[in-house]
Amino acid sequence: MALTGQHARPDARPQAPPASHAEWRAGSTLARFFTRRSLRTLDEDECRKLIEGQVEATRPIISGLIASGAMILALTGMFEAFNVAPGIGWPWWLVELVALTMAGSALAIWHLSDWRPRLLLTVLSTLLFAVFLSVPVPGTQYGMALRMALFSLMPIALLALMVRRASILALSGTMLFVAWLRVYLHGDLAAGSAVYWLYNLATIGFGLLLGGYRTDFAVSNFRMRQRLRYQATTDELTGLRNRAGWNRDAEACYEDAIKRAKPASFAFFDIDYFKRVNDTHGHAVGDRILQQLGQIIRERVGSRCCAARMGGEEFVVLLVDYPAESVEGFVQRVRKEFDDATRDIGVTVSAGVAHRLEAESMSQHLRRADIALYAAKAEGRDRMVVAKG
Ligand code: GH3
Ligand code: MG
Ligand code: MG
Repeated sequence: MALTGQHARPDARPQAPPASHAEWRAGSTLARFFTRRSLRTLDEDECRKLIEGQVEATRPIISGLIASGAMILALTGMFEAFNVAPGIGWPWWLVELVALTMAGSALAIWHLSDWRPRLLLTVLSTLLFAVFLSVPVPGTQYGMALRMALFSLMPIALLALMVRRASILALSGTMLFVAWLRVYLHGDLAAGSAVYWLYNLATIGFGLLLGGYRTDFAVSNFRMRQRLRYQATTDELTGLRNRAGWNRDAEACYEDAIKRAKPASFAFFDIDYFKRVNDTHGHAVGDRILQQLGQIIRERVGSRCCAARMGGEEFVVLLVDYPAESVEGFVQRVRKEFDDATRDIGVTVSAGVAHRLEAESMSQHLRRADIALYAAKAEGRDRMVVAKG
């Protein structure tokens, strides 16, 4: 298989931080309406990764919030048992039992990795918390304001931590249901009805606002990490991997090739008398020449290759699953294209190639390619030398 420009694939080099993706932006109007603006700057795959990361990251705090709710309920039950505060009709021991159930939920949420049972437990805990803290038993006439305010703390905080649309809807729905249940069991609110609904809707609204802010923060954090990773692994001048990027990807690619019993080859490129080019034409011209070689390599390597600028004017390519002739053809084409591109200055490039030998380690293999490059230099430069077995 020839290694030509036709095989060039964007995944042959480290991914640049992507701009917002058209498909994602063009999603259905309803989906767009319910998707935070900051999330719309991510593509679908990034969005999925961010959501998964967030769902995982919020697990301990959600568990902690429900545990705090359990503690509030347990204390309320004790206040009632010792007549510190009047109850709303539930026997105190039942309140303590429910608090214990909530504590069990909190423990389970801490350990569950799937978000679905966690959401179910979160909604159930919120319902239990509402019913035993702020929903009166029929017949009781106790003023509910403080108990409702105490109840609202947990769902506001939970809502701010919900990541998936389904979770946000489920929790908002639960809060609305509880608000309705209170009216249903407590009877008509008469003159206080408007403020009552304003209070409940404001509770949900604040939770959503905080959740939105948390999402924006998570997206900017995600972008920053992406940019840092890109900068740390990419050579700024050529857009190829730098040494760190090479170390990260080449070993994994090489091990995979060995596991799948595929041929692997290393090709080193080193520009001839580059110091002289810099001295004669200046560093700006030297930089442009480095960029030209980087671009030729980048455009010619495909998804089965891993290319890097190792430093200075030295480049390396790992080619997997190509027969020896294809690899050597690729190297000669890169050299020829580079010669053509820099004809005005007359720069050439030497190359050392090594095809993997049976039972050879990556470092032994690299060493042979390096020695082949030295041989190309020693034999007069502007040539390719293939390492002997
Ligand atoms: P040889 O044919 O033996 O490889 O000779 P050479 O002059 O190419 O090799 P040498 O290692 O002596 O010099 C490499 C030069 O590369 C020295 C340095 O000035 C230049 N260089 C390294 N990094 C950069 C860079 O980022 N930009 C520019 N313009 N020059 C660079
Ligand atoms: Mg050189
Ligand atoms: Mg060199």
